[in-house]
Amino acid sequence: MILEGKQIIGQDIAAGPGTSFQAVDPASGETLPPEFPSADSKQVERACQLAWDAFDAYRETSLEERAKFLETIAEEIEHLGGGLIERAMSESGLPVARLEGERGRTCNQLRLFAGVVRAGEWLGVRVDPALPERTPMPRPDLRQRHIPLGPVAVFGASNFPLAFSVAGGDTASALASGCPVIVKAHSAHPGTSELVARAIQSAAKKCNMPEGVFSMLFDAGYEVGTSLVKHPSIKAVGFTGSRKGGLALQQAAQSRPEPIPVYAEMSSINPVFLMPKALETRGTDLAQAFIGSLNMGAGQFCTNPGLVIGLKSPALDSFIEEAGKALKDTPANTMLTPGIHAAYEQSVAKLAGNAKVNEVGRGLTGEGENQCQAGLFTTQGADVLADESLQEEVFGATSLVVICSDMDEMKRVAEALEGQLTATLQMDEGDTDAVARLLPTLERRAGRIMANGWPTGVEVCHAMVHGGPFPATTDSRSTSVGSAAIFRFLRPVCYQNLSDSLLPEALKKANSLGLNRLVDGKREG
Ligand code: NAP
Repeated sequence: MILEGKQIIGQDIAAGPGTSFQAVDPASGETLPPEFPSADSKQVERACQLAWDAFDAYRETSLEERAKFLETIAEEIEHLGGGLIERAMSESGLPVARLEGERGRTCNQLRLFAGVVRAGEWLGVRVDPALPERTPMPRPDLRQRHIPLGPVAVFGASNFPLAFSVAGGDTASALASGCPVIVKAHSAHPGTSELVARAIQSAAKKCNMPEGVFSMLFDAGYEVGTSLVKHPSIKAVGFTGSRKGGLALQQAAQSRPEPIPVYAEMSSINPVFLMPKALETRGTDLAQAFIGSLNMGAGQFCTNPGLVIGLKSPALDSFIEEAGKALKDTPANTMLTPGIHAAYEQSVAKLAGNAKVNEVGRGLTGEGENQCQAGLFTTQGADVLADESLQEEVFGATSLVVICSDMDEMKRVAEALEGQLTATLQMDEGDTDAVARLLPTLERRAGRIMANGWPTGVEVCHAMVHGGPFPATTDSRSTSVGSAAIFRFLRPVCYQNLSDSLLPEALKKANSLGLNRLVDGKREG
């Protein structure tokens, strides 16, 4: 497919009249054709109007029609073949195996949501039949189902050009819930975005979906994204990216005459707690696995282990020494964009310049452009408690080991942490009591708590939580990965005493959809 650099507005492909930008190959620093002219306010208006016009029809598509639409998007993405992977490689510097895996994850995610839509559990149907004879007051007939919020504006991240972008988790969960989607394409991978958007456009046509169910707009700056968030037809926002960007969009959403929810996934340093027994028995293995996790994908994962916390001991000294040795031979990898590389260098320099921080070592320097040289530093628990800047995310392959004087200090450090996507425990049986004391704190601080793994790698399934208290996200009550993400874009509506003929199919007496409904507090099925 030849890239045209045009906006995807419903079934139209329209040239943008605004300022143009081009993608940059981060490995070579070269700009890539074509030019992508920005959308203007009329195109924002048109996409929003189409999305609003599509909303009522799209939200009442049958479960089967909507599930089929999601599956067709997956098929259309697969039909893009190697061209999609090549373009994503040149726009992101990510290797082929990683991008093929990410494409598989993106398509499986769409198919997972298709299954969720068909099962209908997300409708959350509850029925409390009328009790006309009840005294002293009769009970009316009350029926609840969930309906979608309305058109959603989606902002993808640079570090997952497929799985957290145009057809990523936010788009899949919003479409599954019955919300039309307008994506603001990420400027780091516009060609990849155009290819995927055209796959969605084609799926919408094949499945006879209302035209405005999906649009995607380009922008050289922040105007289009901000206008989308402020547009009255947009009813929710899904965002993955920087803390600064997420907060700017949340502020825009909250200052609207009608504020709307913003589900922004932003910043997390993913603390790993090295419990004493585990460190004593397998410190060397842990050190090597840690460096592997730290340097994976140049550390450009929202779940990268940015903070490692242990107790002052010879075992921790050996862990630091082993990790330093493993790091020394770690190759540099290309970072996603020149901007992210510059920010990484600045953040590492700031950390290294902190008087309370010691450098353990650095990885190998790379040959090409925008290379991420890994880094490992140490500091003391008391210093983390005294200096909040030591918790700032360094987006890339750098981590800080925090040396605590005892378990009480480790708990105080855990307590002082900002909200996190993950908290990891490296533990053996002898650590169980100490872990049990930490757990209540970790539950309050993180969305996912794991034992004896590494936080990089997020399974897309039903039980996953990829979320957490601020600043991991702007709303800790939900997840952006896994089937539970559908609930972010739904709200309950109760129907009181409506006749059966007026009720939506899911709530009618016959239960023709065969839903597992809660009737008078008991499961019907
Ligand atoms: P980003 O710079 O925040 O960009 C994300 C999207 O939001 C882009 O489309 C961007 O537009 C737009 N945007 C950013 N600031 C905006 C503003 N003030 N107003 C309107 N739109 C705005 O994120 P990124 O490019 O992915 O950069 C990587 C950063 O994201 C890292 O710092 C990392 O910490 C964070 N990250 C976090 C997670 C997580 O799950 N917590 C995951 C991935 C990345 P442009 O396209 O024009 O730039």
